Amino acid sequence: MARGLQKQQARANAEKRAAANAPPKSQLKAMVNGNKYKCPKCMLMIANYKLVVQHMEAKHPKEPVPSEDSFNV
Ligand SMILES: [Zn+2]
Repeated sequence: MARGLQKQQARANAEKRAAANAPPKSQLKAMVNGNKYKCPKCMLMIANYKLVVQHMEAKHPKEPVPSEDSFNV
C-alpha cells in the first residue's frame, strides 16, 4: 500500500517538473508567428537574420550565407 502511494507521488512530482521545463505558451506562439526568415537549405523558420547567420554557420557551414536582402519579399 505505502509503496504504491509513493510511486504515485513520484509520478506527480515528475509531471510537475516536466511542466516547469516546458516553454511558456506565449513564447511558443511568438516563435510560430514571428519567423519571417526561412533557411534555404532545410526550410527551417527563423525569427531574425542574426539567427539565420548563426544557423547557416552551425548547420550548413559549406553553404554561403544568404544576404539579408534576399529574404525581403
Ligand atoms: Zn538550415
